[in-house]
Amino acid sequence: MRLSSFFMPTLKETPTEAQIVSHRLMLRAGMIRQTSAGIYAWLPLGYRVLRKIEQIVREEQDAAGAQELLMPTIQSADLWRESGRYDDYGKEMLRITDRHDREMLFGPTNEEMITDIFRSFVKSYRQLPLNLYHIQWKFRDEIRPRFGVMRGREFLMKDAYSFDIDADSARRSYQKMFLAYLRTFARIGLKAIPMRADTGPIGGDLSHEFIILAETGESGVFCHKEWMNLDVLKDAPGIDDDLQPFFDRITSIYAATDEKHDPANSPVPEADLVSARGIEVGHIFNFGTKYSKPMNAVVAGPNGESIPVEMGSYGIGVSRLMGAIIEASHDDNGIIWPDAVAPFNVGLINLKSGDAETDRVCAELYAKLEAAGLEVAYDDREERPGAKFADMDLIGVPWQLVVGPRGLKNGVVELKRRATGEKEELPVEAALAKLL
Ligand code: ATP
Ligand code: MG
Ligand code: MG
Ligand code: MG
Repeated sequence: MRLSSFFMPTLKETPTEAQIVSHRLMLRAGMIRQTSAGIYAWLPLGYRVLRKIEQIVREEQDAAGAQELLMPTIQSADLWRESGRYDDYGKEMLRITDRHDREMLFGPTNEEMITDIFRSFVKSYRQLPLNLYHIQWKFRDEIRPRFGVMRGREFLMKDAYSFDIDADSARRSYQKMFLAYLRTFARIGLKAIPMRADTGPIGGDLSHEFIILAETGESGVFCHKEWMNLDVLKDAPGIDDDLQPFFDRITSIYAATDEKHDPANSPVPEADLVSARGIEVGHIFNFGTKYSKPMNAVVAGPNGESIPVEMGSYGIGVSRLMGAIIEASHDDNGIIWPDAVAPFNVGLINLKSGDAETDRVCAELYAKLEAAGLEVAYDDREERPGAKFADMDLIGVPWQLVVGPRGLKNGVVELKRRATGEKEELPVEAALAKLL
């Protein structure tokens, strides 16, 4: 991508309406544009990152055996009356009336709809287990939308739903998602801690929120200090192995959200307990027959008996993750994207656009890098070097390749790693070899 023609409306000024750094940086980098309270347009740079995050989430869901489908954003109120949630959900649900006066809603989540799809087609225990997911926009009329995409009203969620014949099998489905989530967040470059979460009226122990520790997080959390330096995926089993030992080992290291944590009965001595704030980026939940019973989602068991399926749901805040990544990875100059989700792999900076030799070398590097499958942000604009450096730091591209007439006279270019600031001068071919 040549930045001279790329739609990337960066801001010089720090937007005053943004209270936290990720929101400020996303606005300054020209990644998003608020169109109404808590509703954002994703500009090209932001959309590139969103798609990268989405793709990692997708790959790990697929690897865990979940199957992707796509349900609509608009749902019928009737389905929600069947589960009893239509009235319970309250003002967070955006209710819509169509031209025939039918009550509709913009989906805040999809348990009812997926249960309806399931019961229409699945009739036998032989078709289980089944896990179906989609990545779709949700709407929740949050009372206080804030922090940019972190608490939006319209936001992108991955939500998966598992169906099993009995509680044992449902536990296995839950553990698969548990591991898939750890893998997903690790690939994105985030350290997410699975914390025991409130299961509400259903009870049981099978609910975890995946939390990124951050001062700006909206959740209060408690965990054993061991979590601070834990490599959670070390010695992790494969997704199709018996996951129980791994699950037991990881969940035995205490971590709980404040709704679940009881200071009077903390299993961790004060000295070993970390009290912190965190961002909820994922939430998994086993809720048994909460929906299958009222909605009559039953299958025939081995003896022909009618069995309500055991269900679970598994959410990831795909758009919220972008804010969480930036909260976890930035400095005074801007964003520092982890390689896996960076909008571009390489930022190629032409220090003197219009200089024939510099233009020629840049064009050649640009072509070679792109031909090798790398995504390149080529800054060919007629700007001062200082402005180019500042923008490239701001948008956080992991590698910067700096080409100028003075260096080229000595046959060298400069390669900079955004995360560490480390710079190295080296011949053009050597720089190329390092990036490929
Ligand atoms: P929160 O406690 O932050 O309101 P939630 O518990 O209501 O979130 P869930 O119903 O568990 O959210 O939805 C699954 C995931 O969707 C959450 O873990 C979170 O990452 C994401 N999410 C929920 N609400 C929002 C929002 N308003 N904006 C962005 N992402 C959200
Ligand atoms: Mg909520
Ligand atoms: Mg929550
Ligand atoms: Mg939640």
